[in-house]
Amino acid sequence: MENHSIWELSAKQDKITEKKLEKTTEVLIIGGGITGMTTAYFLMNSKKPITVIDKSRIGMGVTVKTTAKLNYLQGDIYQKLEKNFDKKTSKLYFDSQVEAIDLVNKIVAKEKIDCDLEKCDSFIFTKEKKGISKIDKEKEILEGWDMKVGTVENLPIHFPIEYGIVTKDTYTFHPLKYINGLKKVLEKKIDIFENVMALEIIPKNDYFSVKTNRGIIDAKYVVVACHYPFFIIPGWIPIKTYIKREYVNASQYNHEGKNFTAISIDSTLHSIRFYKDYIIYGSNQHRLTNKIEYQDNYQQSQSDFKRLFSKEPEYTWMNQDIMSNDDLPLIGMIDKKHPNLLVATAFNAWGMTNGTIAGKVLSDMILEKENRYLKLFNPMRMNKTNIVNSLIGAMHYSKVYFQTTVKKNPVFYNDHVYIIKINGKYYGVYYDYYGKKHIVDHKCPHMKCNLVFNDEEKTWDCPCHGSRFDIDGNVIEGPANYSIHVTFEEN
Ligand SMILES: Cc1cc2nc3c(=O)[nH]c(=O)nc-3n(C[C@H](O)[C@H](O)[C@H](O)COP(=O)(O)OP(=O)(O)OC[C@H]3O[C@@H](n4cnc5c(N)ncnc54)[C@H](O)[C@@H]3O)c2cc1C
Repeated sequence: MENHSIWELSAKQDKITEKKLEKTTEVLIIGGGITGMTTAYFLMNSKKPITVIDKSRIGMGVTVKTTAKLNYLQGDIYQKLEKNFDKKTSKLYFDSQVEAIDLVNKIVAKEKIDCDLEKCDSFIFTKEKKGISKIDKEKEILEGWDMKVGTVENLPIHFPIEYGIVTKDTYTFHPLKYINGLKKVLEKKIDIFENVMALEIIPKNDYFSVKTNRGIIDAKYVVVACHYPFFIIPGWIPIKTYIKREYVNASQYNHEGKNFTAISIDSTLHSIRFYKDYIIYGSNQHRLTNKIEYQDNYQQSQSDFKRLFSKEPEYTWMNQDIMSNDDLPLIGMIDKKHPNLLVATAFNAWGMTNGTIAGKVLSDMILEKENRYLKLFNPMRMNKTNIVNSLIGAMHYSKVYFQTTVKKNPVFYNDHVYIIKINGKYYGVYYDYYGKKHIVDHKCPHMKCNLVFNDEEKTWDCPCHGSRFDIDGNVIEGPANYSIHVTFEEN
């Protein structure tokens, strides 16, 4: 069984260079996932000097671990938006998702990107009687916008459901092939640097100085497309968002050539799509907590996969996305004092469409073009749902913040982890399979939350905002952008 996503093997990447990097550019895009690369794409012919940096490899962040459904049918989103906002907002969000699908189609056709883009039907369904009314409500809303919606009691493969609806004109693709296709086009026109980590954004008079691990980059505009912005202020993103993790398994499966996507609207997630001979199944989604329950979820998702599809998973991975408190992404300006600092985040697990539309919105802002979604996604918005959910989130995080289990006089075993306290500070100690000791700071550098050891992947994970570190403390995933490596020897 491979412990990485199905997409990672199939697309070749270039070698990373390690040169020092000091430069001035007009637009600096931090992050080369679907959001950053799409923003660069819409700017590449503007004659403005554009630079993209990524702390690791282009496309190898959350985008390479997605299930890559290109879809406007997103669970019960439209009724949620009607409730949180109003009918107009819900429709505008729908339009943005349809437009994003159209943009990807146009880019793929124009640039001749071979990324297995395929049109298919999509289903949302419930496995519970109480979910029927929600499905019907979503149907009613979509039909109100002249969409053709069918009802079903079965999916095209054997997978028991109670009730569902089906729509057309949705797509699936290979996310890494798509990003690599964009990269090939972009490389001819703009600068792309991998292995460059942005550490700090320092506002100057009419530009920004961005400190990176390889030097300083000065830019008039900075687009923060690094999934989760690494700073807290401006924008206060941590209080407007929370993280959900999901487990994905894939295996060869005889689906008789039927291609479709399906996702449940129940509290238990079931997400299905196909890629060539493979079925890709996402499940066991949960909000991050300081309990190590996700380790059980990993195993649970694998045994569910075996039970449902009578197959051992060939690929198994987990991924996390940022959820906004009011169900709309945060895209645009985050600080009136610095209108050229732009962000795109909180795609609510629909970043293929939202990362694409973010690219269009942000590039239009930089090119001073009108865009009808500016207000919809405005990251500075405040509303009742946002405030109530921020308070719930704060209560949740405060528990995580103060809880640490300290092992007194521990006996150290191989492949075990301990929290120890030395001179009032907590450290995480992991003894690997060979008895080698790996010691890290137990607090996340982002907002000082206590870390949790993820026994499945042997990583230290932040239960508040999703940062992840390897056993030696190197950052795997942000928002943290500093390591938790420590060098001292305890007695
Ligand atoms: C299990 C799962 C399934 C999903 N399935 C779907 C789906 O079917 N359809 C859909 O629409 N969406 C889906 N999503 C959501 C979607 O995958 C994400 O929203 C999207 O990939 C986010 O793209 P991004 O470009 O914002 O982030 P990323 O792809 O993570 O790109 C950000 C980049 O920034 C870089 N970076 C980070 N910090 C720094 C720094 N300090 N300096 C420099 N670079 C930095 C990273 O290395 C990374 O490459 C899914 C999410 C999950 C969790």
